[in-house]
Amino acid sequence: MNEIHWADKIAEEISWRDKNVIATGITPSGDIHIGNMREVLTGDMIYRALVDRGKDAELIYIADTFDPLRRVYPFLPGSYEEHVGKPLSSVPDPYGCHENYAEHFLDPFLDSMEKLGISAKIYRSNELYEKGLYEDAIRAAIKNRRKIADILKEGSGRELKNNWSPYNPLCENCGRINSSEVLGFDDFKVRYRCKCGFEGKSDIRKGEGKLGWRIDWPARWKILNVTVEPFGKDHATVGGSYDTGKVISKEIYGYEPPYPVIYEWISLKGRDMSSSKGVVIPIGEMLESVPPEVLRYLIARSRPNKHLNFDPGLPLLNLIGDLESINGEDESGGRELEFSLSVEKRSNVPFRHLINTIQIAKGDLKELRIVLKRSGYDMGENEERWAGYARNWLERYAPESMKFELKEELPKNALSLKEKDKMGLKILGERLKSDLSGEDIHNMIYKVAEEAGLKTKNLFEAIYISLLDKKSGPRAGLFIESVGIGFVKKRFGEVSRDEG
Ligand SMILES: [Zn+2]
Ligand SMILES: [Zn+2]
Repeated sequence: MNEIHWADKIAEEISWRDKNVIATGITPSGDIHIGNMREVLTGDMIYRALVDRGKDAELIYIADTFDPLRRVYPFLPGSYEEHVGKPLSSVPDPYGCHENYAEHFLDPFLDSMEKLGISAKIYRSNELYEKGLYEDAIRAAIKNRRKIADILKEGSGRELKNNWSPYNPLCENCGRINSSEVLGFDDFKVRYRCKCGFEGKSDIRKGEGKLGWRIDWPARWKILNVTVEPFGKDHATVGGSYDTGKVISKEIYGYEPPYPVIYEWISLKGRDMSSSKGVVIPIGEMLESVPPEVLRYLIARSRPNKHLNFDPGLPLLNLIGDLESINGEDESGGRELEFSLSVEKRSNVPFRHLINTIQIAKGDLKELRIVLKRSGYDMGENEERWAGYARNWLERYAPESMKFELKEELPKNALSLKEKDKMGLKILGERLKSDLSGEDIHNMIYKVAEEAGLKTKNLFEAIYISLLDKKSGPRAGLFIESVGIGFVKKRFGEVSRDEG
């Protein structure tokens, strides 16, 4: 079945426009994770699909740096209570390494975007306000504040107070952006009284305040000419911010709302990810163990409205296996491959084999080159890069069952193997020759077990015990080939020689 790829389908629907601006954005209030990344990757794939059709398109990313710190998240020191309500761009970096709180979380995210091959124009919302880009939008919102209140009430059922304001002044005294009451408006100044007791005037041209989220969103559609917007399902509910945003966009700003692309969550090992609860792996950290093309593939292969579960442990290997099995000629997979791998190329060595060989090489890349050569692989740049991922994956996410250590000395447990098993190893050792392939060795193990009257399972166990001091290990044929025939022959000889 050659279904058209979801990104191509969206591109087809919007390509009647001369130019499309795809807007993505995230509030950098905590670690940015793969769930957040779905938004940007979804936008990027639509962008690529448009470009592939020869259309003019732009991908933008708006960091909501002007949003207030909502509360003291578990990862913050208690002293951050005093910063609650201040824009993230004015809260100090809790780790002290960046200019401010927002930049601390934004910086590694921008770095990850680059690794993922996403190039977007970056905006910071505090700068958009400070540069005065919102001036007209704020003016219109203040002028139409009753009308907007009605739209919000109709959409969300929320009754707004008489003195409700679409604009939240930034208190000059305490720096909070969510604690003032608006007293009145004169031209470009908004008079306010803050909970801290301060009374002042906020200049709408200078970033001295911001529009509430439900108004800010449609306002920026117009300011930045947004025509496509991927957003999470939380904004897509009936009466949600997209619903009311559409009406505000048309009726207040006279702007056609963007084409919505609603995406589902990605859960991590079956749990919903949440930066505020700390159930996340920051995207930067994940990209040290997972090749970026694999994360792109995860997003590319499922329609945005499909809920995804991501497990960086064993299930990740299946995902990589699926990616490795796509043949570029295959039409349906071909597009997924293009959306996944435009960044970097695949390694010729299957990831599972890299996982095993890097352990045989004890993490040493020079040694790995030799080990790979034994199983018929050359190590190029891509293989070396993927080997780095394999090494980190083993350290961070691999289950114990995938880990092993090749024993330099004969393990004591090998000496207590049953005589029959030792005999099996002896025969196997005698027959091993350097020109045998992994597959040949694999078949030989079965044959030897049969000849020696052994259970195959027992012979496999004996192999692993004598080499790894473990009852299980990687597929034995390829493993023996990778370890090296000479080494294995000698080891099997030692086991049977010591039979006493
Ligand atoms: Zn920092
Ligand atoms: Zn104040």
